[in-house]
Amino acid sequence: MSRFDGKVAIITGAASGIGKEIALRFAAEGGTPVIADLKLDAADAAAREIKANGSDALAVGMDVADEAAVEKGIADTMTKYGRIDVLVSNAGIQIVKPIVEFPFADWKRLLAVHLDGAFLTTRACLKHMYAAKSGSIVYTGSVHSKLASVLRAPYVTAKHGLVGLCRLVAKEGAPYNVRANVVCPGFVRTPLVDELIPEQAEKLGISEEEVIKQVMLKDTVDGEFTTTEDVAEAVLFFAGFKTNALTGQSLVVSHGWFME
Ligand code: NAD
Repeated sequence: MSRFDGKVAIITGAASGIGKEIALRFAAEGGTPVIADLKLDAADAAAREIKANGSDALAVGMDVADEAAVEKGIADTMTKYGRIDVLVSNAGIQIVKPIVEFPFADWKRLLAVHLDGAFLTTRACLKHMYAAKSGSIVYTGSVHSKLASVLRAPYVTAKHGLVGLCRLVAKEGAPYNVRANVVCPGFVRTPLVDELIPEQAEKLGISEEEVIKQVMLKDTVDGEFTTTEDVAEAVLFFAGFKTNALTGQSLVVSHGWFME
């Protein structure tokens, strides 16, 4: 008997990076991941990879900032599986610029993906979790849920906001046996970060190597990147925790970059 036998998890942004690793691990432990991503082709490829390993998986094209698309994706999941045990609200983007130059449209786009996306997917899944009197929601926060770094005005704002949303959901969800928690990773080498390194090097006028050593990993205890496996482990710990003893919490997984 595996930890997630018979369970269904909707994981947003699961066509790539951290979300994909969570989907692979959830499936490896008996569960069925629903890979909800803007990029349907990549989501399909991830679902095929999971099916090739002998598990079930569903790919759903979804812009998490689009109310109708979220409602449809969750409804399609319910039609197919009849249950949603876990939501991992993970889809995210990054845009780096000094705040004085930050275009309002970019600010709004980033907040929409991270915060509207978390709200819309939470609301849509909670209806089914409340009916089942059971559920677990995990948000992918960041060390930037706890501190600020330059050039990331909307990202830092959104990631702090997820901690507040998680606490609210922990309180409103408790009577229905629904928990909410946040995992806060340090820097992980995913496509999101690989794009960021040259951009940040240019904006700060330093080399890519210096961005990695002197900016991204400077305050870690060992100069190491966090891995997708590290983050997935923490997410599945929260997802599989069975009682309200562990709710409304955030866990930093960052090689000691941020300690609390
Ligand atoms: P990634 O770029 O590898 O994956 C993000 C996925 O989200 C992509 O598949 C993308 O298509 C999808 N996506 C983007 N916008 C979407 C939308 N509107 N609707 C649905 N899907 C959308 O990035 P990642 O590094 O795996 O990031 C995943 C999460 O982890 C993000 O919330 C990010 O902020 C967070 N995070 C990443 C790091 C890091 O260092 N990589 C650190 C801390 C937190």
